[in-house]
Amino acid sequence: MPVMSVAADEPGIKPNRILGCRTGPEAGPTLVIVGGIHGNEPSGLIAAERVLAALEEAGLPRRGRVVALRGNLTALVACDPKSRGCPRYIDVDLNRLFDSSSPNGVAEGVEHRERRALEAAIGREVAEARGRVYLIDLHTVSSDSPPFVAVEDSLAARRFAMAFPLPKILGIEEELRGLLIDDATNRLGCISMVIESGRHDDPFSIDVHEAAIWLALAESGIVPLDAVEHAEDPRALLRRAARGRAGHFYEIRYREVIRSRDFRIRPGIDAFVPVRAKRTVIAEQDGQPLVAPVGGLVFMPNRQTDPRPGDDAYFIVGRVGRVWLRMSAWLRTKRWVHAIQPVVLPGVRRRPGHEHDLLVAPEIAVIFRHQLFHLLGYRVIRRGPQEFASPPARAVRAVRAVVAALWRLAVGVLRGGERAALPTERPDDWIVRRRKLDVD
Ligand SMILES: [Zn+2]
Repeated sequence: MPVMSVAADEPGIKPNRILGCRTGPEAGPTLVIVGGIHGNEPSGLIAAERVLAALEEAGLPRRGRVVALRGNLTALVACDPKSRGCPRYIDVDLNRLFDSSSPNGVAEGVEHRERRALEAAIGREVAEARGRVYLIDLHTVSSDSPPFVAVEDSLAARRFAMAFPLPKILGIEEELRGLLIDDATNRLGCISMVIESGRHDDPFSIDVHEAAIWLALAESGIVPLDAVEHAEDPRALLRRAARGRAGHFYEIRYREVIRSRDFRIRPGIDAFVPVRAKRTVIAEQDGQPLVAPVGGLVFMPNRQTDPRPGDDAYFIVGRVGRVWLRMSAWLRTKRWVHAIQPVVLPGVRRRPGHEHDLLVAPEIAVIFRHQLFHLLGYRVIRRGPQEFASPPARAVRAVRAVVAALWRLAVGVLRGGERAALPTERPDDWIVRRRKLDVD
């Protein structure tokens, strides 16, 4: 059972969207803290309360602003740890609704209203900010896991995330539509990330969130770490919580979705447990085993007491090396890298009307796979169905695709270039886009 609750300020009083805020006399950056986007995850709000109280006592900050917002107010209010438990959401998962491509206000569920209210509150902060805006979205997980940071892979966000000695997960916004951090990044231009601090009911999750908020305040330049006395150095606390994975980067390789309420993760399948492709049974659903389609490490296995169809079942992640990260940081700062691709890569064209997009023929995209686009600083916006072939089968397919591409290129050149060989845009083309914070 959850051991903590932050439903309302006082019993019987409807809580505000704003949990609290502090503004310094000098202009500076803004840190927006969002907690309780999921009603059963109050840890971030409790941590924010502690930090705001300490700042008030010390008369801080001297510059900039920090504000803490409650996420899913309705679900937080419905929380009753003693009897009913705490609902994650009422109608739908709030953290899948922040999709600027879907018209706001068409559907009228509880969480659609929550989305509008939260969007308005964050929008106000961005409009009134007197410096860069950082946003941290604080969550907890259902199974035992070291804390981690999930961050959009722009260079600015990556740099911010590096300050946190926690494992970092890249690519979550390609797998999940409508994340708050994605909207904050791509519509509002905030440097944003998710911080998952551990199990919902573990009091240590609150300590981790608190340490992460102190680090976010320090890294954004609002409150230096030594301006307040800490029981344990926040960096040391996070490193201890990370259980040896502090500096590691991981990329999401696969996501499984729950299809039936009869779903159960196998015992022993915890966060970061290694799994083998087509061998390891990760979960059971309707009595059938779910086998890992790719190898890697299990990530966020869903052990919610009440899993609902459509929720994430689990992810599989793979480690990303330092050399790869450095290379990709270097490559994406070079303008010519973006300019040259349609010229040198067969099957890659510009997307008319979209300066930062490229179209990739699917048969070519299959060989490059999304890792190459990530390396060059692109996010995959549209892709074909995920396919997981064995390495030999992939090699055969790659050879075939390269031969076909070269043939098409030769024909294209004879007819007047690549453009003539491929139509402007086909429905099965992949679309990749440069990261907003990288091009702004
Ligand atoms: Zn959550």
